[in-house]
Amino acid sequence: MRPTVLCFSGLDPSGGAGLQADIEAVGQSGAHAAIACTALTIQNSQQVFGFEPTPKDLLLAQANAVVNDLPIRCVKSGMLGTTDNIIALAGFLSEHPDYVYVLDPVLVANSGGSLGHQATLVKAFETLIPYASLITPNTVELRALTGIEDLELATQKLFAMGAQAVLVKGGHEDTPDYIQNRLYISGELISETRCPRLEGEYHGSGCSLASFIAGRLALGDNLKTAVQHAETWLFGVLKRAESPVKNGQKIPKRF
Ligand code: PLP
Repeated sequence: MRPTVLCFSGLDPSGGAGLQADIEAVGQSGAHAAIACTALTIQNSQQVFGFEPTPKDLLLAQANAVVNDLPIRCVKSGMLGTTDNIIALAGFLSEHPDYVYVLDPVLVANSGGSLGHQATLVKAFETLIPYASLITPNTVELRALTGIEDLELATQKLFAMGAQAVLVKGGHEDTPDYIQNRLYISGELISETRCPRLEGEYHGSGCSLASFIAGRLALGDNLKTAVQHAETWLFGVLKRAESPVKNGQKIPKRF
């Protein structure tokens, strides 16, 4: 059986982000996706109306049901929703030190809607950071996690907090013509990639990127190669994205 990525992620009924993004992206990477559902969100391509987090015992029961059943190589987390779920995941990871772990520190939806109480999530993420083989913050999340405005200093603070590798995604920066991502390993800048900035807003681009990376890591790529593969794949997926309504975010066409 294909190596498996166990994704801790929420349901987004629009199918753009969350667990559907994870299933499609991991599948496209060549690996198999398993899901421990962290929350049911109520949202569409335009806005978030609310969400109901999964109780932590139920979340852990989902994950534990597949631990001895599937060839899990990697864990990926997106929306976790509550401090309880973050602490539960940290406990799960401490029991499985052999799993590669990709942490996408989701705080808000791209549409701006809340996916949890930001200040408490930020505090709780401190416990997860040391477990992660890779953290994939956008610059808004990086600044929120560290409380530091300057991106280089903020990245170094994340390493001081126990990060092993960080992919800083530049989509929210004021660079009208391009998006620049930076990959750091053990505090050192390893690669810097630029791609042309595509027009419009996208729903689930971060989930897709992190999950594709997780899939490639599960299949044995090293970090730099996994990130390169994922960035190339994501650019094509976003180029083909579809607009459901005039003011909605585009839904990535992952296959
Ligand atoms: N997870 C869920 C369930 C979501 O609904 C969202 C955004 O709406 C995200 C994660 C993060 O999405 P993005 O990849 O756009 O940052």
